[in-house]
Amino acid sequence: MDDQPRRIFNARFVLSSVLAGLLLSLVVLIAANHLAPLPVHHLRPEPSTVALDRHGGLLRAFLAPDDMWRIRTHYEDIPPCLENAVLGYEDQYFRRHFGVNPVSVARAAMVDLLEGRFAQGASTITMQLARLMEPKDRTLAGKIVEVFRAFQLEWRFSKNEILSHYFNLAPYGGNIVGVGAASRIYFNKEPHQLSLGEAALLAAIPNSPNTLRPDRHPRRALRARNKVLRLLAARGRVTREQLEEALSEPVPGRRYAMPFEAPHLTRDLKLQYPGEKRLETTLDPSLQHLAEVMLRRHLKPLRPRGIANGAVVIIENGVRELRALAGSYDFFDFRHQGQVNGATAPRSPGSALKPFVYALGMQHGLVSPRSLLYDIPVNYSGYQPLNYDRRFHGPVSVEEALVRSLNVPAVSLDAALKENGLYYFLKDAGLSTLPEIRDHYGLSLVLGGCEVTLLELANLYAGLAEGGRFRPCRWLESQPRFTSEPLLDPGVCYLLTEILTELRRPDFPSTWERFTDIPKVAWKTGTSYGHRDAWSVGYTPRYTIGVWVGSFDGKGAPELVGAEAAAPVLFSLFSALEDPAGTAWFSRPDNVKSRRVCSVSGMPAGPHCPSTEEELHVPGLSPHRVCDIHQVIQVDKETGKRLCPHCRIGRDYEERVIEKWPARMAAWMEKNGYPLDPVPEHFPRCTRIASGDGPVIVSPPDGSELKIRPGAPLRYQKIFLDASVSNLTRTVYWFLDGQLVFSGSPAEKVFILPAPGAHTLLCMDDEGRSTRSRFTVHP
Ligand SMILES: [Zn+2]
Ligand SMILES: [Zn+2]
Repeated sequence: MDDQPRRIFNARFVLSSVLAGLLLSLVVLIAANHLAPLPVHHLRPEPSTVALDRHGGLLRAFLAPDDMWRIRTHYEDIPPCLENAVLGYEDQYFRRHFGVNPVSVARAAMVDLLEGRFAQGASTITMQLARLMEPKDRTLAGKIVEVFRAFQLEWRFSKNEILSHYFNLAPYGGNIVGVGAASRIYFNKEPHQLSLGEAALLAAIPNSPNTLRPDRHPRRALRARNKVLRLLAARGRVTREQLEEALSEPVPGRRYAMPFEAPHLTRDLKLQYPGEKRLETTLDPSLQHLAEVMLRRHLKPLRPRGIANGAVVIIENGVRELRALAGSYDFFDFRHQGQVNGATAPRSPGSALKPFVYALGMQHGLVSPRSLLYDIPVNYSGYQPLNYDRRFHGPVSVEEALVRSLNVPAVSLDAALKENGLYYFLKDAGLSTLPEIRDHYGLSLVLGGCEVTLLELANLYAGLAEGGRFRPCRWLESQPRFTSEPLLDPGVCYLLTEILTELRRPDFPSTWERFTDIPKVAWKTGTSYGHRDAWSVGYTPRYTIGVWVGSFDGKGAPELVGAEAAAPVLFSLFSALEDPAGTAWFSRPDNVKSRRVCSVSGMPAGPHCPSTEEELHVPGLSPHRVCDIHQVIQVDKETGKRLCPHCRIGRDYEERVIEKWPARMAAWMEKNGYPLDPVPEHFPRCTRIASGDGPVIVSPPDGSELKIRPGAPLRYQKIFLDASVSNLTRTVYWFLDGQLVFSGSPAEKVFILPAPGAHTLLCMDDEGRSTRSRFTVHP
């Protein structure tokens, strides 16, 4: 009778003891957890830096700082066959246990007791992860710490996170860590592409990485793999058929090299973003391959002639992303500095910037495609631009000046644009290689008197392809998508694009002349001073491609001409990328209209223009002054002299259309044998002084300070008198300090001997119009 309460007491005592024990263990565990917190940073050792293409494929990997290959793999990228193989072989109850499997611990303890040593079979994946995280000796104390860490890991992480850490830390022999690096190096695959046989091999290797690595011990590796496969089949985790198929797979006998694609860009990005372990580029692997192959193919025959290198960039318009960058002929060609990135090396662009001058001329209303520019000698305070062929071509249209890449018209147009010219435009468009002020470059900027990189140059042209929007190009997914206000009107870009697609021009590569199915491309070439750099940049609606050919040592070669060295690469690439028949072209913007212009002056046709032609223009932007070269004069029937409104009163006359050129142009045409209709001289008995253009004194300019060089005879220091007059002028008169010193044809050269002092020079034409120039001669 007194047994009952005691039993209750005993039961209560046992229960509360167990509870107290559990509570105490919990307290101890919590205290231990605080005293020895999980070294989480060991779970994420510094990985290899990887550079990926736009589809996530591996372009290149760099060794981690401790010279290990660690390519981080997300749990989502672990294939089920690999998880199945590892869990089926190592830890069947992984999803159910709490870090330690009590059944196998008990079994292992028995074996240990019987055999007097520590077995390892009891290790769960969690315990193995604990050991990978914190390598310990195989002692009892080590085992206890491992179990404790396993509890901590299970407490802290989900099962998938534990697996993910395990797959990233498992050793695969040598400097290979984790399945990301192992599947690359042993199978040349991404983990998600692994077969069952490959997964089984990767499940086996971490048990003894240095004796099971297949590149050194293929037979042992094969045996270990087959053991895993048979166990999986015995445990019902793979079917008979799967087993047979996997057993028949060969085991790799060597290591694959890590991919080494786009070496220049990936290297530069790694240096530029040292903290970034995953460089997700915008490169397209097939375009990258194409760019490299084409560059090599075209450079190969040039190399024996001293042209060692080249570079190619491909930009996709619209998204403005870099799709390919080939930086040199061969990255490993140390003799020719193959590791230099030719796409980002600053070089002189030659004529490759000219299209932007014409675009600006159209944007600011100075010219339209058929406008005339004067390709005649000019002097901008000592700077006298010459053409490539050292000749002048007189009056040329904008179209002709651009496709023939004439220097003088481009320089003159840029001079006329003043503050709206090329320099500030390039600054606004984001060119980073113009460190100096505008005056440093002067007008030679137009002719390539500066430096650009191929990448930035191509990106400028992409701005034309995008209708005047100039913005940075992206090459990393982490970069923002840049937007910008247009710097050029879409209509102006369209007009320029139409000019740049002209095929009949000097810079069309001769090797391409026999091809008929050339895709439509807008392009321009450039050749730098001394034939050091050959350029070619072109665009279609979809792509902009830039090509540079030259040598990194800066040596020139006669073959280094944009048209022949660089343009063939450009055309080969576009032929590969664009279908000559089916490629959509830019559609004409609504603000581009057609009009009739004078065939001679290119100005909107007037009533006296003998012939006209079609021109595309942008109303509101393009110049609209009607042709003033074709004018009507009145000719006296009796004397054949020209009459003015003053002297024609009461006389019998007829009307005749003549060409009236500006003074400077007329003088040049006269001297260079251009047939100008002779214009009769003014009716001699007329007393009225004509209005309009008088002579313009070119030399010596007004305000000149001249100095007599001592020791040299004066006859070698004569002063050249030069004035531009209209082609209506037959005779000019020069007066020095009031004394007539010359009278005669405006084409004749006139010189005077210098005399110290201040002088006034006057030039008068046969209609009495005159100009003065004052100059001083210093003794
Ligand atoms: Zn006309
Ligand atoms: Zn008159």
